[in-house]
Amino acid sequence: MANPERPEVLAYVALGANLGAAQATVLAAMQSVAALPQTRFIASSSLYRTAPLDAAGPDFINAVVAVSTRLSAPELLLHLQRLEIGAGRERPYRNAPRTLDLDILLYGDASITSPTLQVPHPRMWQRAFVLVPLAEIAPAKVSSPQLQAVASQEIERLV
Ligand code: ATP
Ligand code: CA
Ligand code: CA
Repeated sequence: MANPERPEVLAYVALGANLGAAQATVLAAMQSVAALPQTRFIASSSLYRTAPLDAAGPDFINAVVAVSTRLSAPELLLHLQRLEIGAGRERPYRNAPRTLDLDILLYGDASITSPTLQVPHPRMWQRAFVLVPLAEIAPAKVSSPQLQAVASQEIERLV
């Protein structure tokens, strides 16, 4: 369980959905992430719409949420996976359409390489649907060259 002595860590979580009521799912999931135990809300990005990248199915709704948490990174991952399952997530094949995907992008300055958890998320720098919402709420975390590198990927900010 969470250690009350553990310091708070600023974590960034990417949200994505492209099945069902994707916007409503992502908005509800942002609130669920912010309401996790030992966790408080810091910031959330706008919602964005993107065409699937290396994946099938309808457009994605994406966003990033920042929380300050005393959960360890593996604990946070377990909670996120529980929320995915609660939203009806199935994994029939790699990059399948999904009702909800929650990825840990950053966990403080931690560098984690375990069989079940890699942080920073190893593919985040290739993805406009991650970097654009992340840059909206944490501009210092994303450089101009990093944004430039994904500038060819279409992404629409929803208002
Ligand atoms: P991608 O990781 O390329 O975005 P995906 O999100 O579709 O693909 P999933 O099927 O959701 O992949 O997750 C596969 C596994 O990735 C999870 O079971 C989890 O253990 C592992 N994983 C590794 N690093 C992370 C991370 N930073 N955040 C979430 N899951 C991670
Ligand atoms: Ca993902
Ligand atoms: Ca995932």
